Amino acid sequence: MPIITGQVVVFKCPQCGRREFYTVRREDIDEALSHEVSRVGFFHGDHILLCGLNRLGEPVTRGIDSPNKRDLYSSNRIYAEGFLLVCTENPLGNFQIALVDTDQKVLDLRCFAGDLSSILLIFWGEIDSILRECSSRGYFIIPMGANLIKMKINHLVAFIKIIEGRNLDKSIEFLSSILERDVDAIISAVNSIDKSLRDSYKSLPELIWYILLLKNVFPMNPPVVTLSRVMHYIENRRTNVPNKADVENIELILRADGTLVSICSKSELIQLSKPVAVLLGHVEFVDLIYDNRGEKISLETLLRNIKCEHVGPFLDFLRELEKRKLVGISPKKL
Ligand SMILES: [Zn+2]
Repeated sequence: MPIITGQVVVFKCPQCGRREFYTVRREDIDEALSHEVSRVGFFHGDHILLCGLNRLGEPVTRGIDSPNKRDLYSSNRIYAEGFLLVCTENPLGNFQIALVDTDQKVLDLRCFAGDLSSILLIFWGEIDSILRECSSRGYFIIPMGANLIKMKINHLVAFIKIIEGRNLDKSIEFLSSILERDVDAIISAVNSIDKSLRDSYKSLPELIWYILLLKNVFPMNPPVVTLSRVMHYIENRRTNVPNKADVENIELILRADGTLVSICSKSELIQLSKPVAVLLGHVEFVDLIYDNRGEKISLETLLRNIKCEHVGPFLDFLRELEKRKLVGISPKKL
């Protein structure tokens, strides 16, 4: 019998005896054609069951592996409680964010630079309450101990390990009351708090960056390279409250493809841009701009010449040139 989509098959784990009821998908047919057996997997706490369907549609066990191998998730469709686990071989940035998309049934671990086993176990233990909370509450931040928080914004729930745990409860209490506002309103509310009081909310800046990610970045589902640029942009700035320019710069990264950079052809371009680049520690930016003088070029094309880690200083550089009227940054006209 061939593989039939929609049919339910049962896989039995040789390690723990757990039975997995799996509804056959279109992907199983394609994978069985190219790999003999389709690439299904299930998270079982301390191990992963690798299995699949052969070309006759029969369930086959392929082995047992460790949940900590990041590459396992890109070469297999591994599920935990019906959620597909998505991961990249190298984490995007140095954050620990596990993102649960309750609409798409995906657990996104691409921005989780930590021990996968432990966060998967936390997700496993929390999934029932997440599904319950989904229907009832749109927004919350809940401390879970050991500097871990659970944050829900719309249909996205994130488990986030934060670096600054001092006075976490105080910061959470304040932000919970304004979490439904948009990012600009949250930033201005934070800036309106008395400075001495603000200094005692140690976790506030970092938490606001995560709110920005959940509200403005993750819902756009950006491609890996774009997401990596955003995460690296935030990396060195996360101990300061994001400002208006940061929000705009992140918007630029997300819309790099639709943004035009017009570079002037004036002879002073090099004299004026060099000191700025030296100050930022990246003289290579001068050549990139000078090579494209007199051109209108998409920001995406420029960013492709820059390492993800250098995206922040490069945007600072462009903004300084913009102030001196040496470059113009504008959305592409339709
Ligand atoms: Zn098992």
